[in-house]
Amino acid sequence: MQVNQKLSIIIPSYNEQDNIPKTFTTIKEILDASRIPFEIIFVDDGSGDATYLRIHQLSQEYSEAKGLSFSRNFGKEAAIFAGLEASCGACCVIMDCDLQHPPALLPEMYRLWQEGCEIVEGIKQSRGKENPLHTLCANSFYCLISKATGIDMSKASDFKLMDRKAVDALLILPERAPFFRALSSWVGFRSTTIPFEVQERTIGSSKWSVWSLTKYAIQNITSFSGAPMQFVSLMGWIMFLASIALGIQSLYKYFSGSALEGFTTVILLQLIIGSVLMISLGIIGHYISRIYDEIKARPRYIIDKRCGC
Ligand code: UDP
Ligand code: MG
Repeated sequence: MQVNQKLSIIIPSYNEQDNIPKTFTTIKEILDASRIPFEIIFVDDGSGDATYLRIHQLSQEYSEAKGLSFSRNFGKEAAIFAGLEASCGACCVIMDCDLQHPPALLPEMYRLWQEGCEIVEGIKQSRGKENPLHTLCANSFYCLISKATGIDMSKASDFKLMDRKAVDALLILPERAPFFRALSSWVGFRSTTIPFEVQERTIGSSKWSVWSLTKYAIQNITSFSGAPMQFVSLMGWIMFLASIALGIQSLYKYFSGSALEGFTTVILLQLIIGSVLMISLGIIGHYISRIYDEIKARPRYIIDKRCGC
């Protein structure tokens, strides 16, 4: 019996009609030259353009091209999980559709897998060319999430090869809003890294606005880690100790006969305590909404059409 050696490539695609054919042929050329058996699963994340049409055309022409199409935009994480669920390879690689993750590294990643590495993680050497505001937001997000999860995510990317064992372990996690980058480290297994330079996007533009990045950051931090709640209680303790110190100082001033000056101090304290309370309530609110989402147990995505799989 032939052992399964197939490499499944999962590509979340949102409004990428012009990238699909080029991405497919580039990857196919590289993998055919290295004699690696493969399938490419494009997951159309509710695109408004002809992304699915392009995928469908490819699937008619090539048996390696497969596709799923969501009923609406469910987000990149949902697309990654849908692709993993539909895959049948002995190992899977997640890649972006815009060739910013260099396909030339695929044979090397596959070789490392054949040598026994169960996870081969692409590590960004640079962030490529992008708008400075985007870089600032992304850096702050990764700094926060690395602190919150204890996993260094500053250079991590979704460009990752995972053995079937790791994929299966990931797929049994029941969370509604999974954060792929963190969970794929959390599952463990023998892993290694491979550095890569983020290529420039030549066709189309980035799908992330500052607002969508902020939403993505809040959702992923609160879905993966309870650290912000610990931060809230730490703030509570700091405020409590500060008020004890202030109380002692006030008593001391009272007994030593000096008048209590401090109208400004009172107003300032009220403002500080008020804003800390509001922020804390907001953070707790996010967790309650996460619990609410989990309890509703809605599916992570809804598939409208599929081709080749
Ligand atoms: N993407 C997706 N759903 C979305 C946004 C993006 O599937 O809601 C896909 C997109 O088509 C691309 C990948 O995720 O294949 C990375 O997106 P993009 O290139 O816009 O992100 P950036 O490289 O700027 O971080
Ligand atoms: Mg990109």
